[in-house]
This record gives sequence, structure tokens and C-alpha cells, in this order.
Amino acid sequence: MRVGVVLLACFLVAGAANAQKKMGGDPVEPARSEPRAKRPVRMTRAIARQSVDTKSMVALIDQMVACGTRLTLSSWTDPKRGIGCARDKIVARLEEISKVTGGKLQVVVDKFEATAERTSGKAVPLENVYAILPGMDPVMAKTAFVVSGHFDSRPSDVMDPNADAPGADDDASGVAVSVECARLLSKLAVEGKTGFRATILFAAVSGEEQGLLGSGHLVEWLKEKGYTVGGMLDDDIVGDDPSPGAPHRVRLFSGNGEIEDADSPSRELARAIEEIDGRDAIRMVFRVDRYGRGGDHYPFYKAGLPAVRFTEPLEDYNHQHQTPRTENGVEYGDFAKYLNAAFLGNVARDNAEALRQLAMAPAAPTEVRLKGAVTPDAKLSWKAEDDPERSGFEILWRETTEARWSVLEFAQNAGETVLKGVSTDNHFFAVRATGKNGARSIATASQPEVRPAPGTAKKKD
Ligand SMILES: [Zn+2]
Repeated sequence: MRVGVVLLACFLVAGAANAQKKMGGDPVEPARSEPRAKRPVRMTRAIARQSVDTKSMVALIDQMVACGTRLTLSSWTDPKRGIGCARDKIVARLEEISKVTGGKLQVVVDKFEATAERTSGKAVPLENVYAILPGMDPVMAKTAFVVSGHFDSRPSDVMDPNADAPGADDDASGVAVSVECARLLSKLAVEGKTGFRATILFAAVSGEEQGLLGSGHLVEWLKEKGYTVGGMLDDDIVGDDPSPGAPHRVRLFSGNGEIEDADSPSRELARAIEEIDGRDAIRMVFRVDRYGRGGDHYPFYKAGLPAVRFTEPLEDYNHQHQTPRTENGVEYGDFAKYLNAAFLGNVARDNAEALRQLAMAPAAPTEVRLKGAVTPDAKLSWKAEDDPERSGFEILWRETTEARWSVLEFAQNAGETVLKGVSTDNHFFAVRATGKNGARSIATASQPEVRPAPGTAKKKD
């Protein structure tokens, strides 16, 4: 009997230790700073992989490649060769999609000029193509979620308008993703299956290879039209996955920003996309872009807006930025034959599902502040506009060494919430809004309380 009790006690202690191990693999901490978090819940995914029309995506890529070159400095008016030829193909495909929606999807060609080192310092004409699916909710219609690929391409010499520049992967693939998202989501909108609260803008931009000119212009265009950018998804080089075991996960790059704990709006967008699409679909990379390189999400990121980049798992540099040729038996050139349609289709589904859920969500909270240094409790406050479709807010936290958020508590209203017995020292905090429809906004990380550093204050710290 007594032996039994002792054995049971041993068993319970071992069980508790095992449970602790399972949670984080670390030894037990003082009870008040123990993790006690719930896994975040997301709405069910609604865009089936089979609903992605990869055949039409590949057909659009082939049409763009057939324009010979799409250098921004090539012809905008020749219907057979040059970047204008590609614009025509994209517009034609979007018009076709728009027709099915009864014109709900609005196709816009935005003409402008830009000057850069890679235009020889001269103002040159550029054009972006947008398809706009207007938001249905007056509270959110002026918030725009953007998905974008660039339709310009380049040969080895970025100033040569005559050399062939097929650009199948870089970045006809990203344009095909943007256009397929337009088809998938506008179809849901007209069928009444999903009510998009926010506006979704499907972009194909030019001037990327000349210095992110089209994307920089789009930031200004959105501002001029009175839109707040809810999130920007840049798809650039998303069509190839040649390694054994394909299709692999797509990489999702997000920059650190300038907040102490590296929780920029872009990082929060990346986390939201990973939660929506799943870890088996998304490989987050906590870096603004591939090492030493850049892309169209950058002008958005620099403006402090949430912007991320999708790129294939492992790039083949012989197939990028190369004038087609064979040297020493090695073939150079960005041809459509290297693309992997299964992978490309996955990227389209991942983008579309992320846009679907984000465009259904309430606005992210603002002015999230954390107080409570040198006290036993954390105090979190935030603001939010009135929104009858919002159910409340989730308070998120994570260990400072963790990559992902957990849910700590739910709060009905904006204002201040006291987190009893929660130390401000050991965790990072954020808040996100939850909709009555189950959609979540991206998180807004707490700004640290500005306190004088020890030794610098007049009063003893
Ligand atoms: Zn590119």
C-alpha cells in the first residue's frame, strides 16, 4: 500500500517533468513565468489546390515569353515584341477574368514616367497593370491588400533592349500567380461564398529590373487614391523547384524593421501567412530578401508597410538575368521549360488563401503599448476604430527566443488589459483583432515603454 503511494507519487512527478519537456524541451521555470499559451486558431482554408488553374498560368507565362524581351526600355507599342506585347497579354487575360465577374473586377492600366540610373538618368514611360476587387465593407474598403509580380525582364545587360530576355521564372511566374489570385478570389466574391471586407489589388508592375520603379510608383498611387495598405505580397521567382522531392515549401522573406524585438509589420504579415497556409507550405526567412538582393516588396517595407516576398526554395542563377546562350555545354536563360507547374500552383493557392483570410479580417489594432517594468503585472493597451464586425482582440505573446506567437488571452474591447502575474521581462507581446467571421488581422507588436536607461535618469532607477 505504502509502496504503491510512493510509486504513484514518483509517476506523477515524472509525468509533470515529461509534460514540461514536451512543451518546450526546457527545464521548469518559476511558476509565474511559465509559458501558458494556446496555439492560435485560424479559419478553415477554403481554396482547394485543385481549383488552381495551372494550365492557364503556364499559358500566360508562355505568351509573355513569346514577346521576346520585356525589358522596361524595350517597345511599349509593338504588339509582337517588347514589354508592351506582354502588357497586352496580361490585360487580355484579366479582361477575360473580369468578364466572368460581370465587371466586378476592374482592370486598370496605370501609365507614368520614372527616372533612374538604369534609365540613363532620363525620364522613360512605364506602365503597371492592376485588377481591383473592391471591398464590400465601408469600414474596410479603403484598406487594400496587394499581390504583385513584375512583368518586365532583363538579359545579361540590363540596358540592352534588343537581346532576348525570356524571363519565365523572373518574373512571368509571379505575374501568373497574381493573375490566378485575381481569378480565384473574384470568383469567390461573385459566387457570394466569401465577403471580402477589404479591397484586393492584383498587380503586374514594370521597371523592377531598372530599380523597383513600378512598385515604388504603386506605393504612391495607393496613397493618392486614399488606400491604407493592409499587406503586400510580392511574388518574384516562384516557378521553379528542380530539387528531388519537389514540390518543396516556398520561401517567405520578411524584414526586421526597427523595433527592438524585430517585430516589424512585415514580420507580422509573414507570421500571419504562415499560420494561414501552414508550416508545411511556408518556409519563413527572417531577412528582408535573399542575401544582398532586393525586390518589389522593398519600397512598401521602407514605407513602414507590411510587405513580404515569396521566392522558390533554391534558385538556379544560370536561369536568371542571362541572355540565352550555351557556353561550355551549359545552357543559360530563363526558359519556361525549367518551371515546375505543381510548385507554381501551390504558390498561387498559398497567396490566394492568405489574401482571402486577410481581406475578411478587421483592421489591425494600433498604438499597442506595454507597461509594467519593475512591477509584477504586465499592462497592455491598444487602440482600434469602431467595427461592428469585430468580435474582440487576441493578446499574443512568445518567449523572446521563439519565432511564432501564441495566444495568451482574449479581450472584448480596446483599452488597457492587466495581465496578472505576467512578467514584462521574459516575453514579447502583440495584439490582433478577431472578426465575427473568424478571420484575424495581422498582429501589432507592442512598442516598448520608453524609460531612461539606468544611470541616466535623475531619479534612481
Ligand atoms: Zn525579379
